[in-house]
Amino acid sequence: MSGTKTTTSGGESKGRERPRLGIYGLTGCAGDQLLLIHTEDHLLDIFEAFDVRSFVMASSNPVEEELDVAIVEGSVSTEEQREHLLEIRKRAKILVAAGNCATAGGVQAMYAKDGSFAERMRRVYGDDVKFVTEPIEGSPLDEFVTVDYYLPGCPISQSQVLALLSRLLHGEQPEPYPHPVCHECKLRENRCLLLDKKFCLGPVTLGGCGAACPSNGVGCTGCWGPNPDGNFEEHFKLLQSFGMSKDEIIRRVRNYGGHKILQYIKDLE
Ligand code: SF4
Ligand code: SF4
Repeated sequence: MSGTKTTTSGGESKGRERPRLGIYGLTGCAGDQLLLIHTEDHLLDIFEAFDVRSFVMASSNPVEEELDVAIVEGSVSTEEQREHLLEIRKRAKILVAAGNCATAGGVQAMYAKDGSFAERMRRVYGDDVKFVTEPIEGSPLDEFVTVDYYLPGCPISQSQVLALLSRLLHGEQPEPYPHPVCHECKLRENRCLLLDKKFCLGPVTLGGCGAACPSNGVGCTGCWGPNPDGNFEEHFKLLQSFGMSKDEIIRRVRNYGGHKILQYIKDLE
């Protein structure tokens, strides 16, 4: 991976190429950028290994130029953000979507593509409001640009982002985590909540969080996004056998499923 040369404090080049990295935030809670800052011991390693040109949460002095890697969190929720994303995409050789909002649309996309966006905007803001930038329905990055790699999560996992950066640094392809939440739940030897007829979306949700919720007795609500290998139809039947209505199940999977859940529930609604 090409980049800029590392220099010593005196400006003398050590001759090592550092990939140029930009970290950006669109609409979201900024939790994924915060997680990067909270990598603590590893933060200095990241700054040593990469030439960080832009990091909106960590620096007020961004350098907007060609990038080897851009990490973007947040959903696209305004026309201005859509244009900014297109501009980042043009400058970046590799674009990574980080977090549920960037990969699926986030909670702001829970009614994705149901046709109610204009009415919801009117109900909240009224008819006469003037926006500084045109709002658009919260959408994941890949609705507008090609995304090279995905880091799901709410927020993303520290080990996954470090693994991705390490592989990119060494010219290797980052690999997606292949297991559902249930896999991690079993590794932690939790009693399955489904045995007690309690709601849990673990089988149909991407793993990586270490089964954070079921390990504390709370059913998974799917914040890492849908697991493509999940059997949604059978899991919905099981949840219905606990007394939940299909509407309630659909409402809950839409909470974090955003745009990505639509393909899995289109025949089930
Ligand atoms: S509690 Fe949830 S995540 Fe854990 S094994 Fe059961 S269904 Fe899977
Ligand atoms: S268990 Fe489910 S809801 Fe909880 S953090 Fe993990 S993916 Fe998110």
